[in-house]
Amino acid sequence: MPAKGKHRRPKSHRFARSIAVAATGGVALALPLMGAAEAHAATPAAAHSVAQTVAAPAAAKTYAVKAGDTLSKIADEQNVSGGWKKLYSDNRSVIGGDPSVIRPGLKLTIGQKAAAPATQAAAPKAAAATTTGSGYVLPVQGASIGTAYKTAGAMWSSGYHTGVDFVIPTGTPLKAIAAGTVVSAGLDGAYGNEVVIRHADGKYSQYAHMSSLSVSSGQTVTEGQQIGLSGATGNVTGPHLHFEIRSTPSYGSDMDPVAYLRAHGVSL
Ligand SMILES: [Zn+2]
Repeated sequence: MPAKGKHRRPKSHRFARSIAVAATGGVALALPLMGAAEAHAATPAAAHSVAQTVAAPAAAKTYAVKAGDTLSKIADEQNVSGGWKKLYSDNRSVIGGDPSVIRPGLKLTIGQKAAAPATQAAAPKAAAATTTGSGYVLPVQGASIGTAYKTAGAMWSSGYHTGVDFVIPTGTPLKAIAAGTVVSAGLDGAYGNEVVIRHADGKYSQYAHMSSLSVSSGQTVTEGQQIGLSGATGNVTGPHLHFEIRSTPSYGSDMDPVAYLRAHGVSL
């Protein structure tokens, strides 16, 4: 059954996508958003070069978290260049998957990017208990990709497939690829039951055609947290996960999801 579903899906999926666009009016939105997508695409590389520049000599200091602290408050008070996101990425191994939860007494390293490898080397046992250690995981385990990103198709209004399809049976647990905040969770036209999550880098992940949702809008999620089960809701002929990475919450701002995951240490 899954093999049959996989083979006939691409055709019907194109059909489904054309309906999705007609229903949401996404075509009109696509052009301005594309511009935004390209502008954002430069961000990760820029962030890395900044981090490397800062890494060199500056002596690191340790900050003990006090009651009432938040990462952004500490970043402001300690003049962390790069703000709370830098603070979080440098201290991710001690903070964990949720940047909004920090315990009083926690020791944060400020002003030294090199802390990350050192921490990883010092805590191999802890790393084994988690996933990739990069802060990112696959949205579904052990699935193969059916229809690839940017597969051309005249029936898609954008001219190509805006995400990737993972071939999985209905009821497969789906995971948040990284920590973030759920910006929408519910029915969305041809996408069926859908979850969209905003991540710390400003990018969004979208999970479509789900059979059930276990998160709601506004909720914070951690890396690898189950957000619901896969399904075949919306306009599909067979169960699969349609997965996108976007630079905005909306259709039309898609980026290459495979490249994005790989850039964050996820192999697929
Ligand atoms: Zn798809």
